[in-house]
Amino acid sequence: MNRRDFLTTATTASVALTLGGCNDDNHQAIDYSKHPHAKRDDNKRVNINKNKKTVIKLATSWPAHFPIMGTGVEKFAQRVKDISGGSLEIKLYPKNVLVPALAVFDACSSGQIDAFHSGPYYWKGKNSAFSLYSGLPFGFTAEEINSWMLFGGGLELWREQYAKYNLYPFMGGNTNIQMGGWFRKPINSLEDMQGLKMRIPGLGGEVFSKMGVNPILLSAGEIYTSLERGVIDATEWVGPALDIKMGFYKVAPYYYSGWHEPGSILELTFNKYSFSKLAFEHQSIIEVASSEMNANMAYEFHAENIKALQKLKELNINILQYPKDVTEAGKVALGEVIKELSDKNKDFKRVYSSINDYLKLSKEWSDASLKYFLNER
Ligand code: CA
Repeated sequence: MNRRDFLTTATTASVALTLGGCNDDNHQAIDYSKHPHAKRDDNKRVNINKNKKTVIKLATSWPAHFPIMGTGVEKFAQRVKDISGGSLEIKLYPKNVLVPALAVFDACSSGQIDAFHSGPYYWKGKNSAFSLYSGLPFGFTAEEINSWMLFGGGLELWREQYAKYNLYPFMGGNTNIQMGGWFRKPINSLEDMQGLKMRIPGLGGEVFSKMGVNPILLSAGEIYTSLERGVIDATEWVGPALDIKMGFYKVAPYYYSGWHEPGSILELTFNKYSFSKLAFEHQSIIEVASSEMNANMAYEFHAENIKALQKLKELNINILQYPKDVTEAGKVALGEVIKELSDKNKDFKRVYSSINDYLKLSKEWSDASLKYFLNER
């Protein structure tokens, strides 16, 4: 650790949180085994102590000011400060400042940080069921997954399963529908997918793997160069708004619509004990502000995507669609992936079953209303 790192760490330690006004309550020394089911109890409200400021350490998996995801969290933090009259401060740590981008889950679980903003499918190695909280290929749209989470039992399942890690999740945004990705060569049939090296994470990656694609995991900074040099043949990322900034169109100009991430959820997750110790008003402020962030991020993705699509058209990038045999193979592959993961993991089976029950009904309604309308509009 160099001196600069040390100073950063020292400053961080000096602002370590004083939750619920308990100044002498050393957060990092808490024995979590004694609080396995710490939860909000409305009968035991702790109200704001106006004389003390509560500070929450929140790390993200994004660089500082990262468009929409990063800036969305920054707006959330400002909102919390404003609504709480400054009595609650969310101190943000962009990726790698306090903890590495993909170490936020463990850091929050252990109590090193109080909260994080990231994506649930990054933790599928801990429990494959967690990838389902991001979404499902051919599954829910952004609107449908919000509905399942809030009114179909999704959030309860998620909180129950994260509780084993001392974590308490909220929805923290949605990318809205994502694009299939950028390819160096056009895809005219399933045969063209065979052996392709493609950057694609999550359940989508597992589905593409069954279809003959070779999924590669690369960090954001490595994708462009890998595509340019032909180390990979294709990549998915998010949608026009973020993809255009990555410049993929310059080296892989065939851009396809997609079905692998139709409405991916981002998470705002708290250490369960940290959250339970917050004053009742502060808990309520976080609930309201996270709900605003969840909605606004999806709307902002939409707003930025429609502008970026026009820019792509000016660059002569046309939106293509996968050939029918590719999409059909994707559906078959998804069935196999679900069967395998359900057989291996009862948590996955349980979450998938809840999603599938809701999706069946949701599809019927969405087909009768939205699908009809979009086709006719
Ligand atoms: Ca993606």
